[in-house]
Amino acid sequence: MTNTTPRKRLFIRTWGCQMNVYDSARMADVLAPVGYAPAEAPEGADMVILNTCHIREKATEKLFSELGRLREAKAARRAEGGEMVLAVAGCVAQAEGAEITARAPWVDIVLGPQTYHRLPEMVARASRAAGAVIETDFPAEDKFDHLPEAVAPQGVTAFLTVQEGCDKFCSFCVVPYTRGAEFSRPVVQVLAEARRLVAAGAREVTLLGQNVNAWHGEGPDGRDWGLGRLLRALAEIPGLLRLRYTTSHPRDVDDDLVAAHRDLPQLMPFLHLPVQSGSDRVLAAMNRGHTAADFLRTVDRLRAARPDLALSSDFIAGHPGETAPDFEQTMDLVRRVGFAGAFSFKYSARPGTPAAGAPFQVSEADKDARLQALQALLRDQQDAFNRSRVGMTFPVLFTGPGRHPGQVVGRTPWLQPLHLTGPLSLVGTEASVTVLATHPNSLSGLLAAGAASQTVQPEEEPAPA
Ligand code: SF4
Repeated sequence: MTNTTPRKRLFIRTWGCQMNVYDSARMADVLAPVGYAPAEAPEGADMVILNTCHIREKATEKLFSELGRLREAKAARRAEGGEMVLAVAGCVAQAEGAEITARAPWVDIVLGPQTYHRLPEMVARASRAAGAVIETDFPAEDKFDHLPEAVAPQGVTAFLTVQEGCDKFCSFCVVPYTRGAEFSRPVVQVLAEARRLVAAGAREVTLLGQNVNAWHGEGPDGRDWGLGRLLRALAEIPGLLRLRYTTSHPRDVDDDLVAAHRDLPQLMPFLHLPVQSGSDRVLAAMNRGHTAADFLRTVDRLRAARPDLALSSDFIAGHPGETAPDFEQTMDLVRRVGFAGAFSFKYSARPGTPAAGAPFQVSEADKDARLQALQALLRDQQDAFNRSRVGMTFPVLFTGPGRHPGQVVGRTPWLQPLHLTGPLSLVGTEASVTVLATHPNSLSGLLAAGAASQTVQPEEEPAPA
């Protein structure tokens, strides 16, 4: 029978991290059965969701300026005889709650990250209610239990959220307040979703969590599994060629996770491990729970297990109380480790976090100067790492067509984009490539002589865990 339900247009704007990208995809999944299909632009859409992020500076101001623009789009939709449901989701929604509808009464729904499985019900309530629907509860268990099983295909590379929330309470971070306490999805759910993603074409799966290596859960053997054990189980799924996980905390790198890096060829030799600072004084002020020496020992353990492992990290320049010698210790740590990539930011206060009200705020001029010095060093290291790949031959997973005709793009084991001239039939396969050159944001190469692409047949049907 043909489905004659008119499709409603859904536009989702996503700010922030990969977890928000994943959440947006799942919100689209939840709304698909009630008739919403993705739209390219907010104009003319029946529903617009702004999935917000609180990590970046001025997140709230950016939200309200976007809401100002959408007020006009909503009025235009009404003038054509339609309706636009406007929802604000994500961490800013969690933090600001009813304040959003007080300042922007044309918003219909405000929902926190743990409630998006209830979206269809909220849409129905919003169309009946006189005021806005506000849902900012915290039960992560509830959300994962009620999400639909069918997931929209994500492509050759896919994300899978296994963990949410954080109990670490770093001085500068809003996550424990906006995403709540640490919650790990059960093993059975994770394995089932991974199998569905592979059946839908994924060849690389990145496990996501605010503190992903704090993940733990009861395995089918009745034992408490950590992330290392989970990765071993995922590596057994036929057709799943590559595994990654992000974002990790240095305190939660246990021996089994290190051993997984040694034992699993599917686990890619690239790890994002935020350190934030190289000064023990600043690390203590940040409440990170480890020292610079602890971090260096963890790096040594990982590199001993997987010698080709490359690292990226996060850094904050100018945390309250950071002196010039503290900052020099960060530069020393960067020189000692040698990073293949990094995200670095000037400290900026997040309302409600301990560091926001701390004494000894660093001047903007000092923060700027430190950030520039740090970024110059990190950029040099990244360039050196990219150049070190030239002439090497290694497997590349091809993910799609390139920007120019006849080109395909893929990912190296170290997450660098790589393009070459080759057939589109490479997409979804892994093949050996020799790197010829580095470019500002990518590598280029050619298929290695005699390279055969590896196409592994996934299981036809997702098997029970
Ligand atoms: S461990 Fe990460 S998510 Fe948790 S509080 Fe610290 S910075 Fe935020």
